[in-house]
Amino acid sequence: MGKTIAVANQKGGVGKTTTCVNLCCALKEAGAKVLLCDIDPQGNCTSGMGIDKNTASPNLYNVLVDGVNAEKAVVGTKYGDVLPSNAILSGAGIELVNADKREFVLKNALADMKQKYDYIFIDCPPSLEMLTLNALCAADAVMIPVQCEYFALEGLTDLISTIRMTKKALNPALEIEGVLMTMYDARTNFSMQVAEEVKKFFKNKVYNVVIPRNVRISEAPSHGIPVLVYDRTSRGAVTYMELAKEFMRRNRPVPVR
Ligand code: ADP
Ligand code: MG
Repeated sequence: MGKTIAVANQKGGVGKTTTCVNLCCALKEAGAKVLLCDIDPQGNCTSGMGIDKNTASPNLYNVLVDGVNAEKAVVGTKYGDVLPSNAILSGAGIELVNADKREFVLKNALADMKQKYDYIFIDCPPSLEMLTLNALCAADAVMIPVQCEYFALEGLTDLISTIRMTKKALNPALEIEGVLMTMYDARTNFSMQVAEEVKKFFKNKVYNVVIPRNVRISEAPSHGIPVLVYDRTSRGAVTYMELAKEFMRRNRPVPVR
């Protein structure tokens, strides 16, 4: 049975998509079977994996709204399998409102996929509405990227209370997978201060690996490739490979003694 991880933070531009694309690529390289499910209508992780989002059909919208089998929508790439999305998905939030068990449409759609993959990552949109709620109900755990900047913690209160509420009312098994500090800039004092504050709050849930601000990371998406492929020796690529190692270490089953 695979593990499903929602990568969420209702703040935009914190590194959700970047983390999904590069962590999936690094995990695939390490031999894991990975599916990246793009539930953001912006379709950034679809294009970041080299898929033309505008012609991707069927896509996640068809899966969620038309009941198309998820397997039919999966696109295989060199960097991992993708359930693609595009702007059409923005209508799904409203259409799902009237669906039967509306919070569980994605979970049900991905049920068979859990048998086929080791990890399913869900790249969430920058909101806490129906699509993100579906991701939180489909997930075993939430990964939270936090950008090292002022006000980083401010928006997290809403996210944490949404996670708590989801756990209480809809998905009792939901856990926090980990908190990832992103766009760390060692030259600025506040980057360090934010990282310390986040550690105080989330304690050992914070990954030891911290993603640096790195220009190669921001260049890679325009080429439709992960930074691991774009510039393997860049600090960004190396750090995402380290993150994959830490992620796998944390997910290794503990032997019963
Ligand atoms: P989100 O999915 O949370 O909205 P993205 O992953 O799309 O955020 O990142 C927002 C922007 O910042 C993108 O242009 C991306 O290329 C860039 N970016 C993300 N992480 C880094 C990083 N570590 N260093 C430099 N640029 C980054
Ligand atoms: Mg994104």
